[in-house]
Amino acid sequence: MVLEGKITSIDEIFSQGLKIREVGVVDSLIPGLKQEVLHIGLVQKQTDAGEKSRFKALVLVGNSNGYFGLGSGKAKQVRNAIEKGTVDAKLNIFPIRRGCGSWQCGCGENHSVPFTVIGKCGSVTVELRPTPKGVGVVAGEVAKTILSFAGIKDCWTRSLGSTRTIPSFAAATSNALKSTYRIMTPKDWTG
Ligand SMILES: [Zn+2]
Repeated sequence: MVLEGKITSIDEIFSQGLKIREVGVVDSLIPGLKQEVLHIGLVQKQTDAGEKSRFKALVLVGNSNGYFGLGSGKAKQVRNAIEKGTVDAKLNIFPIRRGCGSWQCGCGENHSVPFTVIGKCGSVTVELRPTPKGVGVVAGEVAKTILSFAGIKDCWTRSLGSTRTIPSFAAATSNALKSTYRIMTPKDWTG
């Protein structure tokens, strides 16, 4: 549908509830998408032939303007794991609802999260709370990178659990961003 010109923006895909099946769709509809390898881990697997180890790459993509995706890929070589992870991240891309959200600020611009959101993964819980403009992202390095890729400039974060486990922490942060669209506010009911 993208090739036929029936769909011309990434927003249309999500507003119509369509699923992205090809990376090319993401590349053509979201120009300026950045990617970063967040973590490389070693996965050991016991097989008949002995121990097999593979690399697992955790990759994030984003346009720093409301679109973000997290993905992972496993392969014998690091480079291939990163390639697979990048494809996975692009296919997992999702829109983030941003807003001002802070009663102390009230500027109405999309610089923070619209309200407090919580995301979980395993034992890790991440909370994102709106802050006034200019506060910046108050978080550790991993959350800072994720929120910058998502296009959130000001935000307070709080986390619980084994937050040093980067894959779980990143997934929990990503889940918190996802729930900006899951939660409806009274403002949306009338709109
Ligand atoms: Zn504001």
